[in-house]
Amino acid sequence: MQELLLLLLPVAAASGWLAARRSARKENPPQGCETSPVYFRGLNHLLNEEPDKAIDAFVEMLEVDSDTVETHLALGNLFRRRGEVERAIRIHQNLIARPALTREQRAQALLELGQDYMRAGLYDRAENLFRELKETKLHVKPALNNLLVIYEKERDWKACLDVADELESITGNKMMLQKSHYFCELAIGARMQGRAADAAAYLKKALSTYRGCVRANHLQAQFAASQGDHRGAIRILRQTAEQDADYLPEILPEIVSNLRHLGDVQELRTILTEIVAKQPGTGAELAMVDLLIEQQGEAAAAEYLADQLAREPSLALLLRSIELNARMPEGQSTRFLEGLRPHIRRLLDQRPIYQCSHCGFTAKTLHWQCPSCRRWSAVKRRPGCEAEI
Ligand SMILES: [Zn+2]
Repeated sequence: MQELLLLLLPVAAASGWLAARRSARKENPPQGCETSPVYFRGLNHLLNEEPDKAIDAFVEMLEVDSDTVETHLALGNLFRRRGEVERAIRIHQNLIARPALTREQRAQALLELGQDYMRAGLYDRAENLFRELKETKLHVKPALNNLLVIYEKERDWKACLDVADELESITGNKMMLQKSHYFCELAIGARMQGRAADAAAYLKKALSTYRGCVRANHLQAQFAASQGDHRGAIRILRQTAEQDADYLPEILPEIVSNLRHLGDVQELRTILTEIVAKQPGTGAELAMVDLLIEQQGEAAAAEYLADQLAREPSLALLLRSIELNARMPEGQSTRFLEGLRPHIRRLLDQRPIYQCSHCGFTAKTLHWQCPSCRRWSAVKRRPGCEAEI
């Protein structure tokens, strides 16, 4: 607040003086009234420790003319950045109401006011402004980007697609992934409303827009499975997992359920073995444990789990291990608990204990200055990582 007043005080004084001088030239008023009374009102508020009223008074006396438009824009911007959105809105609305603005100045004020409305959560008003701005052919790209945010919030996916097309034609940058997601959203909506044919058509568009879209492929596999085509579903899911291995844990449960649907236990075992070998930690180990319990009994499953834990310990494997061994005779349980110790030790040693509260950088030792963002005293112990005494 204080720095804002320091900024406003001289600007307001100069503006009031200029205004007074201009009217002096025109009307030749009596000497000695060169400073605007509003300026004194502002000063009065300031002396009475009413900074809010002082700011309003100073803003009020800041005449809008070609010289002060930039000041108004900067001031409005400043208010918005400080979270004083109502003030920002008032300043920008006041600007737009002036007929003397140039086309560029008006467009700039529209853009700023639109951003004020976004900040205030008044999306309807922001939408109207950005559409108006788009028509002016000025600041079209920020207008479209803001419209995209609004339509995504409103989940108006068709509008999102239109905006994305316009953005593509302006920037020349393809928005394949984003558009593919919009088509996925439309497909899900259509399916929920029982419009299966529309859903299928949207999915096709999603995939033709971006062949590698994991979500579209996943949806298509679900679609195939729901129509009884489990083989087709598995094929799509496996291809998808190969394209983007990061999403395998999301896809794996469906690969398993489709294979179980087909009763193809042998194929399930082959696939799970392959995944465990190539990409440990996806959940394939746990699916394998279930399968082993069914086929060879709990002892074989527990042995398999112990091997996997030694290879790549994880909390999920530990939990499953405890569940499985809780049902064993006492002597065996004690031996098992002893066996868990090195795995838990390894898990504790692996986890990053420290994290930068500013940028999220993680580390195993305390850095007083974050090596990533260079902040001091930002790296701290993560919750649940107690000191070992
Ligand atoms: Zn950092």
